[in-house]
Amino acid sequence: MTTIRFYGSELPVFKSALHIHSNVSDGDFSPAEVIGLYASQGYDVLAFTDHHKANPVSAYDGQGMTLLSGIELHPKGPRDVQWHLLALGVPEDFPGRYPTGQAAVDAVKAVGGVIYCAHPAGVFTSNEILDLKGIDGIEVSNSNNRFTGWESAEVCWNELIAQGFVCPAVAVDDTHTHCDLYRNWTMIAAPDKTPASLLDALKKGNFYATQGPEFKSISWENGCFEAEFTEVVEAFLYGYPGMEIVGTPGFPTPETAPQLTHLKFSPGPGFRGKIRCRIRDKFNRCAWSMPITF
Ligand SMILES: [Zn+2]
Ligand SMILES: [Zn+2]
Repeated sequence: MTTIRFYGSELPVFKSALHIHSNVSDGDFSPAEVIGLYASQGYDVLAFTDHHKANPVSAYDGQGMTLLSGIELHPKGPRDVQWHLLALGVPEDFPGRYPTGQAAVDAVKAVGGVIYCAHPAGVFTSNEILDLKGIDGIEVSNSNNRFTGWESAEVCWNELIAQGFVCPAVAVDDTHTHCDLYRNWTMIAAPDKTPASLLDALKKGNFYATQGPEFKSISWENGCFEAEFTEVVEAFLYGYPGMEIVGTPGFPTPETAPQLTHLKFSPGPGFRGKIRCRIRDKFNRCAWSMPITF
């Protein structure tokens, strides 16, 4: 079992596919097919998040994976744009349509679920997200949207954090077809992989998002941020507000870069703000730690 030293606690980490469509809505695969695909790649957790409709996951064979009940909701936003909200931990008979985004968020929170703004680069402005009360975070990277230019929401995430909403971010495949498989996932640090433990970890932000690189430890102790990870060519620490990005100097190419496995940084006694870490490997795959406030 893979573990992570996560802010002082040694915890198992569970490889999780948190945004999956099946042919219950517009996905190419049946529920059994998509379970087989992810189980074959060593995933621990899979969430069904079909459009407007939760799946009867308790009736499915997870092939060793924990199956989470989820749904993607599409209320209209204030610009008459159809929003995309990813909800996890909802009952299997959860209603699928809401008059407003806030009504959808409130309904998910009322049943103890978590809710993320899906591929926000395409459908939300950061101000719209700030106006929603109860959002748990966003998707920072989404495989299904890599051809639309909406794959990355790093700019949106920076805007939210800089304006005081220090939210975590998941990475997801948003699987509809073969093209989407196994490109973005979320590593959840939790004592076990029961749905209750996983949802609790999601609510607390105890996870990181990745396209391949793995964090081995993340800590903040005595005014010092420190992380250990699998070999990468670049490691950055983003600070908000007003702290310059620190990290690997010189924007190394895979050919020239040292193989980094460690980042350590003390912002200094006068700094008060938020920081988060991003690492990138020689295949241009990133992993993102959750922002912390200090
Ligand atoms: Zn969507
Ligand atoms: Zn989707």
